[in-house]
Amino acid sequence: MPNRTPQPRRSSQPNATTIPESETYQTLLTHAQRRTGGVPAERVVQHVLSVTQGGDWPVQRDALDAVLRRFASSHIDEIQIVRRPRGRLLGLYATRRRGSRARPYRTLLRRIQPLDGSCECADFLRNSLGLCKHLVAVLEDAVSKRRRVGVERHAVAVGGRRQALAWINLELSTQNFELQNARMTA
Ligand SMILES: [Zn+2]
Repeated sequence: MPNRTPQPRRSSQPNATTIPESETYQTLLTHAQRRTGGVPAERVVQHVLSVTQGGDWPVQRDALDAVLRRFASSHIDEIQIVRRPRGRLLGLYATRRRGSRARPYRTLLRRIQPLDGSCECADFLRNSLGLCKHLVAVLEDAVSKRRRVGVERHAVAVGGRRQALAWINLELSTQNFELQNARMTA
């Protein structure tokens, strides 16, 4: 990341989805195509524009490259999800490299659109991107159709239609969720 990288913003702006179809957006989108795994490139570009708000073109471009490297690392390092929130998409996950016996990282997904999450790994804490390879793995898992269908079925099975609607609104209840206070439950 260049020296001009703006201060990190941990939370995305609510209006991040209304970014105009600017030339910058289109150029970044073209660059990101087919490099964001199962996550739509549009979401990744919106996230980059959000975390680089106020930055000029080189900052935005470098930030996108840095984010795309995390997507690549997530696959190359085979980041696995060893624990996930039961019956919902948002919440606390545990992630680590495939085959690793190390204690997994706690990776929190607060919101999918716009993306908001955090991780306790060193890279997340210092990179100002609001993303790391662990959060990438969690995000890919959460946006996968298979996972969404599974969560929906679980919600219906547990409590019928009311529960099915409840998980959609879970982001409201997790907005104030703090990673530092979170404890992994078995
Ligand atoms: Zn991480």
